[in-house]
Amino acid sequence: MFDFVIGQKKIIDQLVSLDASDKVPHALMFSGDSGRGGLPLAVAFAQYLLCLNRKNGVRCEECPNCQKTAQLIHPDLHFSFPVVKHASKKRDVTFSDDFIQQWRKLVIDQPYFTYSDWLSHIQASEKQGDINVTECNEIIKKLSLKSFGGGKKILVLWLPEMLGKESNRLLKLIEEPPEDTILIFVTSQEEVLLKTIISRFQIFKLPPISEADMINALQKEADIDADKSRQISLLTEGNYIDAQALITGNNQDLSELVINWLRICYQQNSLNLLSWTEKFGSFPKEVQKQVLSYTLFILREFIRLKYIGEDHVSLQNDELIKLKGLSSVLSIEKAEEIAEIISDSIYSIQRNANVRILMMADSLQIGKVIRRKEVSII
Ligand SMILES: [Zn+2]
Repeated sequence: MFDFVIGQKKIIDQLVSLDASDKVPHALMFSGDSGRGGLPLAVAFAQYLLCLNRKNGVRCEECPNCQKTAQLIHPDLHFSFPVVKHASKKRDVTFSDDFIQQWRKLVIDQPYFTYSDWLSHIQASEKQGDINVTECNEIIKKLSLKSFGGGKKILVLWLPEMLGKESNRLLKLIEEPPEDTILIFVTSQEEVLLKTIISRFQIFKLPPISEADMINALQKEADIDADKSRQISLLTEGNYIDAQALITGNNQDLSELVINWLRICYQQNSLNLLSWTEKFGSFPKEVQKQVLSYTLFILREFIRLKYIGEDHVSLQNDELIKLKGLSSVLSIEKAEEIAEIISDSIYSIQRNANVRILMMADSLQIGKVIRRKEVSII
């Protein structure tokens, strides 16, 4: 049962048919932005593979394995993920299992989340997590034991990019895993992984969630019309986590940040600009994209506000007030021009541009657009 996975039907079908013909590779990697659903897909596939009566992509939900995998407590289903120091332990002996309760809760309650969501879930927003030597040794130890249920052992490892140089320790395991062992790695930064690691996996690249699947999921989640969900789907480019942030009003910080940025662009004070671009450059790539997508969203809402009035704008009240504040300096044409600049930046960030330089240039250009005197035709 893949019911908490949004879309990705093509890959699901592929996985199910690999299993039906008994050809599931021993090392699989799901690659793509977290918002495309690599982790939920990995969990769902692991649950499926452990079901004793699975058939045509559906698990029975009744066998003893299903009952345990539903709660993520099956002893043959292992998880590795980045952690920080545990309160009662030294950092170098802390490993994933020290945070397993919090992990299970988050994966079950909210299967789509980013690395920063995970850190804030374990009250470690200010810290840098990783997957350390102790965890690698633990993985090797766990997987070398016989499986508890006599069937497969599965390891879901989230964010191998957080292994750093420790990934070498796992090379042998990945190359020749113990019998009946399946490794499922989930990465959102395939480009930083070592070639020696990548080459040992069968890679499944997750495409953006399709518009139809996204609209469907968003409408289940919140009471928004088809038009709005289509707009959000487009803006977030098939990234469900970004889309959720846009509709749940979980944007308080983003909205502050964006309005402040536009103000700084307008003022063109170079010190303020510099410190803003520094701050922006320090965000993880996913957050950078989220900020820019949200700016696009704000600009499109501004245009709607101007064209058809505030009844048709889906912003929170205080966002609306701030948006109206922009009216004195922003016209529809200017908003469209700025939206264009920002779309280009999102594209460049995806292609690993130097973010600080890019944002500095963009901010100056946006400032110019905002300050330009509109020529009125008599
Ligand atoms: Zn079952």
